[in-house]
Amino acid sequence: MTEQMNQPIKSYKSEEKATWCPGCGHFSALAALDKAFQTLQFPKEKIAVISGIGCSSRLPFFLDVYGMHSAHGRALPVATGLKLARPDLEVVVVGGDGDALAIGSAHFLHAMRRNLNLTYILLDNQIYGMTKGQTAPTSMVGTKTKSTPYGSFENPIDPVWAALTMGATFVAQGAFCNVQQLTQLVLAGIQHKGMSIINMLSNCVTFNPHMGKDVLDANTIQLPDDYDKTNLPGALDLLMKSDKMPLGILYQNDKEVCLDDKYAQLLEKMQTANENATPQEFLHKLI
Ligand code: SF4
Ligand code: MG
Repeated sequence: MTEQMNQPIKSYKSEEKATWCPGCGHFSALAALDKAFQTLQFPKEKIAVISGIGCSSRLPFFLDVYGMHSAHGRALPVATGLKLARPDLEVVVVGGDGDALAIGSAHFLHAMRRNLNLTYILLDNQIYGMTKGQTAPTSMVGTKTKSTPYGSFENPIDPVWAALTMGATFVAQGAFCNVQQLTQLVLAGIQHKGMSIINMLSNCVTFNPHMGKDVLDANTIQLPDDYDKTNLPGALDLLMKSDKMPLGILYQNDKEVCLDDKYAQLLEKMQTANENATPQEFLHKLI
């Protein structure tokens, strides 16, 4: 964090060389976050990127901002605590499909419904990459891996559907092969006040190489310009009716007050009610 005062920050990447396999889709998330931060020009000391465990969760090492490589599936609760304690920080959370939707699935659902002002980038490559290629909660039926050699029989979780139905107020989907769009989605997600999730369709060139650009192009659709992103039933209807994965902002609700603002309002009320005490002192009196 060595930028001179008043000089634009040209990169938020650290000097650490990203250790993902060459061609891994996760490089796109790093590029998109870096570009989004460059656009916003947040001071580096005002950003914290929190991850869990998995290939995707190495991402905080490759950024020159505060970060934490936390426990498996627990990136969202760690980020929740940090954001409530330090609402002045821009907190971004990164996780893979296993971290978010297997071991961390309960935390995922509760984070969506709480509508805290966080941005969650889910790097969804439909495989467990770090443990060398097992079927994940988002793997398609029929996926053959070391753990399902005859093909997976289980229906996958759609993270977009789960986020929409559990109350996230910004839900978007992008693909690793379109960094330009992904950057715009990440930027809009960070600027949204409330729980933002961007599901990035990624690929694992080493253990799930069929998720390449050609397959994604054939299985995704861009949301049209006249799409109404404020219509939640419309977004759910689209997901139910379309056999392709939509790309763009599926839903954005700017009307709901986020959880951190509700806490701030409560603390303010308490402070007014007890003028001589700080909110912390007042809370201690209550305990
Ligand atoms: Fe990326 Fe897969 Fe390599 Fe992990 S194993 S770094 S997900 S390509
Ligand atoms: Mg994965």
